Amino acid sequence: MIKKNKSLNASCLCKGIDMTIKGEFRPVVNCHCIQCTKTHGNYAAYTSVLEENITYKSKNTLKWFSSSTKAKRGFCNRCGASVFFKRLGSRAISISAGLFKNPTKLKTSSHIYTHNKRDYYKITDNLPKYKKYT
Ligand SMILES: [Zn+2]
Repeated sequence: MIKKNKSLNASCLCKGIDMTIKGEFRPVVNCHCIQCTKTHGNYAAYTSVLEENITYKSKNTLKWFSSSTKAKRGFCNRCGASVFFKRLGSRAISISAGLFKNPTKLKTSSHIYTHNKRDYYKITDNLPKYKKYT
């Protein structure tokens, strides 16, 4: 896993959720699971950081949805952005990569839950595909 120390800003469309994240960023993983496609409208592209590395400028509109007994998903209750995926008990939190501005200098490393993907698109890159997150 390639990690880099940096500082990036991320915000939802209405900036109700606006944050700066410093430290290490996991490469972006595209998740094709049913829960991600239902909440994002398509597959999800997530980087991951330590939650303690997030400083909020605003989180007035941040709401959480318990998507399973193991995880919750953070979203903006004003503009509807899918922002976070949080595995309960983990120090890490996944953030939607589309919330960052260019240049992110992030790279996509893999696809997961590809056996669940919808049939209207093809994965045409040569990145590794996994049945689940490892
Ligand atoms: Zn918003």
